[in-house]
Amino acid sequence: MTGTVYLVGAGPGAPDLLTLRAARLLAQADIVFYDALVHPDTVALAGYAEKIAVGKRCGKHSTVQQFINKRLVDAARKHAVIVRLKGGDPLLFGRAQEEIAALEAAGIRCEVVPGITAAFAAAAEIKTSLTQRGVARSVTFATPRVGAQEQPSDWANSLAATDAGAIYMGVGEASHIAATLLAAGKPSTLPVAIVENASLPNMRIHYMTLRELPQLADAQITGPALILLGPQFTAREGVAAFAEAERCRFPLRKAAG
Ligand code: SAH
Repeated sequence: MTGTVYLVGAGPGAPDLLTLRAARLLAQADIVFYDALVHPDTVALAGYAEKIAVGKRCGKHSTVQQFINKRLVDAARKHAVIVRLKGGDPLLFGRAQEEIAALEAAGIRCEVVPGITAAFAAAAEIKTSLTQRGVARSVTFATPRVGAQEQPSDWANSLAATDAGAIYMGVGEASHIAATLLAAGKPSTLPVAIVENASLPNMRIHYMTLRELPQLADAQITGPALILLGPQFTAREGVAAFAEAERCRFPLRKAAG
């Protein structure tokens, strides 16, 4: 008999931005493999489970994806409920497909539980709609990041062809992103909003234009950050000042017992 592996979205950071299904599965889990960006209070919801950190930020070396795949397969042969907890939504820049393929190849049942992706949390922080009537009718989720053996990606042209864009894993490549998008035809005055640590107490917002994006290197961003571009992302006074005061949080760790 083998168990079921649940690929669960942990949301963007704040532990209370989690689905009830995810919370229920964590409470039932025998073993949890969690990514580095997942909040400790979220991991703590797995009251009885063995908790194992995997993922890039946890150690000096990135945990090789194949090794994670193997650990999931091994765990499913020993336990009933295995949770693979991933930041945001598992199916957006989460390498979930490789894990799903490995589980399927081993004949192990798996299910996916969606989560709130970082782009939604970032848009919520600045109270700016990703789509807007008459302004933005299409949104592209993109990343300039490509792995070592991957084909080059056409991320810039897909962003150029849409009204609004949400760029993941792009902060370290701000200059390259700006130059590539300008070359692809985006205007230098295009509004850009960068939201760092969206949904968390240390959230920060930086507004600029595409021309100014290379200056992001001076902003000393240390947390995960999302780059939003599109005509709607102009600076909105007071958004940052009110974000913290209006946030509602629940003491999840206590509630979990
Ligand atoms: N599956 C995740 C994305 C993983 S890729 C999701 O759906 O959100 C990791 C990237 O997500 C980071 O480099 C950053 O660009 C973005 N990100 C994750 N958490 C974030 C947060 N709290 N605030 C802003 N961006 C975040």
